[in-house]
Amino acid sequence: MIFANAAEFEASSFQPKVCIVGAGPAGITIARVLAKLGTPVVILEAGGEEVTEESQDFYRGTTVGDPYFDLDVARLRFLGGCSNHWAGWCRVLDASDFEARPWVPDSGWPIGRHDIEPFLGEVQDILDLPAFEADRPIDADISWIQLIKSPAVRFGQKYREEIATSDRIALVLNTHVTELVGDGTQVTAARIRSNGAPARDLRVAQYVVATGGLENSRLLLWSNERSGGGVVPKPAALGRYWMEHPQFIAADALLLRENAFEMDAQNEAFFGPSPAALQRAGIMNFGVRLISTPYAGVKETVAHLACTAPSFSEWASSTVGLNLTCGGHLSVGWEQAPVAENRVALSGSERDADGIPRIELHWKKGELDRRTLLEGLRLFGQSMARADLGRVRLAEWLLEGEEYPEGGELAGYHHMGGTRMSNDPQKGVVDSDCRVHGMRNLHIGGSSVFATSGHANPTTTIVALALRLGYHLSGLPHVTA
Ligand SMILES: Cc1cc2nc3c(=O)[nH]c(=O)nc-3n(C[C@H](O)[C@H](O)[C@H](O)COP(=O)(O)OP(=O)(O)OC[C@H]3O[C@@H](n4cnc5c(N)ncnc54)[C@H](O)[C@@H]3O)c2cc1C
Repeated sequence: MIFANAAEFEASSFQPKVCIVGAGPAGITIARVLAKLGTPVVILEAGGEEVTEESQDFYRGTTVGDPYFDLDVARLRFLGGCSNHWAGWCRVLDASDFEARPWVPDSGWPIGRHDIEPFLGEVQDILDLPAFEADRPIDADISWIQLIKSPAVRFGQKYREEIATSDRIALVLNTHVTELVGDGTQVTAARIRSNGAPARDLRVAQYVVATGGLENSRLLLWSNERSGGGVVPKPAALGRYWMEHPQFIAADALLLRENAFEMDAQNEAFFGPSPAALQRAGIMNFGVRLISTPYAGVKETVAHLACTAPSFSEWASSTVGLNLTCGGHLSVGWEQAPVAENRVALSGSERDADGIPRIELHWKKGELDRRTLLEGLRLFGQSMARADLGRVRLAEWLLEGEEYPEGGELAGYHHMGGTRMSNDPQKGVVDSDCRVHGMRNLHIGGSSVFATSGHANPTTTIVALALRLGYHLSGLPHVTA
């Protein structure tokens, strides 16, 4: 069932047991599992069926620290959420991403990859993915890895008909949750505004916040402030440890195409490090994307390198025209170190049309981030040279310790952390079931629960975690009762 606003929903006799806030990939996935298993569920979605300037305005905010995208451009506030403009690149986090690493402060999830693996078959169906493939080692340090460029499922479109005809899902559009009301042990109501009508409360047994990797923190910070700690009673990590995947073109490569790897349909190939190599180098996880340039571009690179790196160029010159078939730029996206100071905060001066403080995002890359980029590319270059697959030349700005280049890719539009998962309420907001510490009936969906981010694009893992959460919720006594 789809309702255009809360008044229409209230006029129906539908009695949900679970309220999900947000109809993006996480919220829709959780709702579909619950409905499949017999639980009536309501999804409250702030936007309508199309993007509007008015709705996007709620997403405006400011960033303090490193340059970042405008926050109202970096996400979409309508049915389907950011899946309306995601690129569809898919990969599950690596098993090692979940583990505690002594050289990475505050690393380690309370769950392992084995906890989400049972759901990966369903993830494939939901995201229209081919089979996941194992990494193919080039040597002990670097593998050629699978990065699926999927058809980029738009959740609002793909699942609209299923939701519209479901008698167990009520999707209520144009309905903002402005605040959750709680008493420090449970949420007692979701306060909503819909279509300009006066605020009203919705009461159910269970609540799930799935409003995206920035908004989850904002909603909970504001709710907690209003209720005097009644929604997140252990708030030490709330809003904190926010992470992106910084991303820059930081090297050129000349590579011989051999059986070790092949380019995809867009003439790109992807590479990642082994856990042992990361441990030896003491760096975060990273992914290297080889963006191939046409043969003329390869010759240009060789000519350029003759001036800047003679020995590299000598090797390249003797190879060009023989079996050198591939060259290009190397873009590196990496796992940002989890740092408590990187955080979503509530603005002290700016509010949205509902009177809720806008986001003030504090975000900076640190020393471990820079070292990951530099040493990661060195690892990659050494592996290519050792296997005689090619040579890598790092960018001058990186070698010389200069600032990150302006106008580059910057980051992946991946919003992670803020309500991270940890058994320790000082270090995280949710437990291993995505339940807010100390709260009986409040769970969180989406990448805000990521304790660390790996280098993989997040949505594949978001959907796997959402499935896991959906099955978990369906078994709770007050949901099945
Ligand atoms: C340009 C771009 C490209 C991307 N490319 C990729 C990619 O290639 N691969 C990848 O893995 N990821 C990619 N992403 C990230 C991906 O889109 C997100 O990881 C994913 O959409 C997150 O899903 P979600 O359901 O957690 O949140 P969202 O998609 O943000 O959905 C949240 C929903 O909650 C609603 N909402 C917000 N606040 C409220 C409120 N107060 N009350 C009610 N409803 C509310 C919103 O309207 C929205 O519908 C990309 C993102 C962008 C912006």
